[in-house]
Amino acid sequence: MIELVGVKKSFGPVEVLKDITLSVGKGSVVALIGPSGSGKSTLLRSINLLTVPDKGYIRVGNHTMDFSRSTALPRDKELAAFRARTGMVFQSFNLFPHMSVEENVMEGPATVLGMTKAEARERAHALLEKVGLADKAKSKPEQLSGGQKQRVAIARALAMQPEVMLFDEATSALDPELVGEVLAVVRSLAAEGMTMLLVTHEMAFARDVADQVIFMRDGCVVEQGDARQMIENPSHPATRSFLSHFH
Ligand code: ATP
Ligand code: MG
Repeated sequence: MIELVGVKKSFGPVEVLKDITLSVGKGSVVALIGPSGSGKSTLLRSINLLTVPDKGYIRVGNHTMDFSRSTALPRDKELAAFRARTGMVFQSFNLFPHMSVEENVMEGPATVLGMTKAEARERAHALLEKVGLADKAKSKPEQLSGGQKQRVAIARALAMQPEVMLFDEATSALDPELVGEVLAVVRSLAAEGMTMLLVTHEMAFARDVADQVIFMRDGCVVEQGDARQMIENPSHPATRSFLSHFH
């Protein structure tokens, strides 16, 4: 599970996350929606500690990072260990262009988890199978479609056996006909009980796959509630106004 309590982050004078408190239950899927600039990416990056919060408390599974008590920043090793508990998938796939598909997926397990090449390759092949790309193991990223690249990125994140998965607009850079194949992988992870927090503009997907939706605006969580209820019949006027742009 993921839990944030009182998380704050400023860039210079601008407070981008204002006292964020939210939770994603174990095995549940939560969609994070909100206008551009509302702080969605900063929130995801804070969970992954790519952005280090100024204040607050972040828990992933049984591990917590507390930014409230001490002024000392966590050490790099501590950050890396915490970060490894979360898998993150970005809008831009961020694959290593000079490596084959299987090498991209093997990289983390081999270098960070200390697996042998053979073990890492075995894990990579199982994951490529899972995302429907077993036949592309030897290809280079440039030989793949956007949807295929994104599925490799998901396999690469899963290779680290994260407790939770974070998706930041994983389908926004894709041609419309390629969105479905990536969402199908996310859907299968949901069915397996993976805990996931996804920033998405796919409202129908959020309604159908997410358990809950969180609406953010101006660095604040405006509301968190049942996905179908919030997408189809939002109670807060700000959420209603935001969603009206999608119909
Ligand atoms: P979008 O839907 O466009 O992706 P978002 O909700 O993900 O938007 P963020 O990327 O989290 O929004 O940005 C929130 C605010 O924080 C913006 O005003 C942005 O300019 C600012 N911001 C984000 N990262 C930094 C940074 N590293 N330095 C300074 N300002 C930043
Ligand atoms: Mg963003």
